Amino acid sequence: MLTLTFLGVGSAFAKRNHHSNALIEVWTTSPDKQSGPDDTLLLDFGAVGPIAIDQLKNKPGFGYLARDGIVDYNKIQNIFITHQHADHIGGLEELAFMNVFVLSNGGDGAAFKPRIISSMNILVNLWDTSLKGGMSPLPGRYALLQDYFHILALRSIATGYEPFHIADRYRFEIFPTDHIRIERQYDWPSYGLFITDTETDESVFYSGDTRFDFATYEPMMTQAKLCFHDTQLYGDAEPVHALLSELRTMPSEVKKKTVCYHYGDTWDRPEYSFVGEEFAGFAKPHHRYVLFE
Ligand SMILES: [Zn+2]
Ligand SMILES: [Zn+2]
Repeated sequence: MLTLTFLGVGSAFAKRNHHSNALIEVWTTSPDKQSGPDDTLLLDFGAVGPIAIDQLKNKPGFGYLARDGIVDYNKIQNIFITHQHADHIGGLEELAFMNVFVLSNGGDGAAFKPRIISSMNILVNLWDTSLKGGMSPLPGRYALLQDYFHILALRSIATGYEPFHIADRYRFEIFPTDHIRIERQYDWPSYGLFITDTETDESVFYSGDTRFDFATYEPMMTQAKLCFHDTQLYGDAEPVHALLSELRTMPSEVKKKTVCYHYGDTWDRPEYSFVGEEFAGFAKPHHRYVLFE
C-alpha cells in the first residue's frame, strides 16, 4: 500500500495552513496493522515544514515520527524536491542539522543520511544558491551536499527524465511544470510527479507548482485514478499557479478525481463551496490519502 499525507496544504503565503509538502509512506499491509511504514518519501520540505511535521507526529497513526518528544528525522528515508522556492525547500537545513547534531547519538554516532532526489539542475542549484550559505560551514571544515544526503540526480533521457522507484514497486516519473517563466516556458526547473503502482498499473498525478497547463497534463490526468493539482483562488493577470477558474474548465470526470492543494487562506468563504462538489475537494492537511491499496 502507498499513502500520501499532506504536512500542509497552503500556498507560499498561507498562514492558516502550512506549506504544501507531503509525506508518502509504503506499507506491506496497512497503517492500522503496522507500527510504522516500510519506507518514506517526503515531497518537498518548506520553511514551516518542521512545524508541520512536529504537529503530525502527535496525531494518531504517526507516532513513529517521534523520538523523546521531538521529530525523529531518521524516519524520513527519501526526499524529492519539486523546485527551489522556500515553501518547498526551506526546512531542509533544519532536517539535515537535526540528523547531524541531535539524532546521531545512537549506534556508532554516524549521522543518518536520507536520499535526496531531483533533476541534476535542481540539485546543483539547490546547494549552490540555496543551502550552501548555512550548511557549508561545520566545526573545523566545509561540508558539501553529500555530507548530509545520499544524492540521486535524475538524468535527462530521450523521453524526459529517468524515473526513480520506492520499494521497487512504485515508479515515480517526473515531468517539467510551467511554473515561473523567466524568458520562456520551462526555463526555470520545476517538476511534478506521475506515480505508478507497477503491480496493478494504477497511477496518481501530482502537479507540483504549475500554471494551468491541462493540454499537456491531460493524458496523465485522464489515466490517473486520483489527481492532486495546485491551485490559486484569486485571479491574477500573470499567475504562476493554476487558477481555480481555469481548473473548472477541465472535463467533469477529471475534476471529480482532482484534489486541489496549495491554496490560500480564504478557502472556506462561501464562494468556494462548489469545490467540494465539482472537484474531489480541497486537500485535507494531516489526512492519510490511500494512493494504491
Ligand atoms: Zn509552492
Ligand atoms: Zn513555487
